[in-house]
Amino acid sequence: MSLFFVKKGSETPSGLTVRTLSSCYFMSDSFKKSAPKICTSPIETILCLDHKQSMYCQLLTGLLRRDHVVSISSIFGSVLARSIKFLEDHWNELCSNIRTGCLSDWITDPGCRNAVSLILTRPNPELADTIEHICGNESWEGIIKKLWPEAKYINSVITGTMSQYISLLDFYGGGVPLVSPSYGSSESTFGINLNPLSNPYDVSYTFLPNMAYFEFLPVDKDGGEKAQESDFDGVSSQWSSEITNANGNVGPVDFANVKLGQYYEVVVTTFTGLYRYRVGDVLKLTGFHNNSPQFQFVERQNTVLSIDMDKTSEADLLKAIGNAKRHLEPLGFMLMTFSSYAETSSIPGRYVLFWELKFKESTRCLKLDAKIMEQCCSIVEESLDFTYKSLREANKIAALELRVVKHGTFDALMDFYVSKGASINQYKTPCCIKSEEAVKVLNSGVVEKFFSPKTFFLS
Ligand code: AMP
Repeated sequence: MSLFFVKKGSETPSGLTVRTLSSCYFMSDSFKKSAPKICTSPIETILCLDHKQSMYCQLLTGLLRRDHVVSISSIFGSVLARSIKFLEDHWNELCSNIRTGCLSDWITDPGCRNAVSLILTRPNPELADTIEHICGNESWEGIIKKLWPEAKYINSVITGTMSQYISLLDFYGGGVPLVSPSYGSSESTFGINLNPLSNPYDVSYTFLPNMAYFEFLPVDKDGGEKAQESDFDGVSSQWSSEITNANGNVGPVDFANVKLGQYYEVVVTTFTGLYRYRVGDVLKLTGFHNNSPQFQFVERQNTVLSIDMDKTSEADLLKAIGNAKRHLEPLGFMLMTFSSYAETSSIPGRYVLFWELKFKESTRCLKLDAKIMEQCCSIVEESLDFTYKSLREANKIAALELRVVKHGTFDALMDFYVSKGASINQYKTPCCIKSEEAVKVLNSGVVEKFFSPKTFFLS
């Protein structure tokens, strides 16, 4: 069962069609030909531009053909997380369609209606009962394994920003292994995971030397993220023929000269014409397969939270939130997803986290204990680096704030970015938000706020 989507293209002033990479691929003849052999979703449901109708029909056909499903795929983990939520909101209706053999009226897309009608051919009360029984359970732990008992693995990128979904997918997967298959971008495919069953937190990607010309700009992780913002014209993701790092004297190295344990920013020259393009990702060299380097994804470079002298990187934030999450999980909570921003409208500024939480038992409503939530704030602060703690101690950064948002708020954030041009397939929940409009979307879902009670860190 693959959950894939396409996005309408736009036109350049000179009349060229512009589309996201995944949409191009799903609309290609080769995919249209192979789709019926490899996924339960009829091609018409993938090509439907209305994402809600598309997701509903893809889940419905995945349920109707549940015995054929051997893997559950999406490009990024965030789409699977969203699909599970969608299933939670729609399983009753899906079961009713299966029971009666009639598709809901609100599915108006003709392609979807026709394609689904070829699979939903008769009332199937037995299947509806089975699914209803599974979904009606108080806990959704292992729901994927229960609904798709033949599923051997979940196939989706769950490294980098997507690592925030690992525990959620573990919980819903019920032991179905998570496989993060590849690392790539619209510019080029970079690498594949040759050890698919490796621990999701330890995945390395083996670079494919024939996909592009790769160069690696050393990044001084210990000397600070500062070096990452090299004087490569001061901005990430752009072309340049002169590459130097912050010291001005270390150029990029090629495939043959990368060193184990070193951090690099990847730079590509592609067949389609990008010259020394900085993708903006930081990677760590973890090994070799034959002579091909294997890299662990570390973080996206431009997603730092920053106040005063502090710069908190995406990887540091993910780690800090991971520590707080471990404190919550034994209490029955799941952190569904998160984001953050630097609130600087008051002085001193503070970091604000947005969390969408849920009880593992789906019927319990969320009641938060202020003490526990404040402890989470403290754990996050304690997990941040020396610079952050010094600035907190000096009152140059105010207490960290945690805003808990209601169910569906992060879906609204995704919808917001999709309305601005992002593709659902390639959507990455931003760890740190800079756009005021996006912060507004999250603020509109806030149900409770907590502050770190901690005032001293260094003593
Ligand atoms: P896009 O061009 O929209 O497809 O986004 C490409 C970006 O997604 C990359 O530069 C990475 O930041 C991120 N990405 C892609 N694959 C992975 C992966 N396997 N692990 C972590 N991040 C990834």
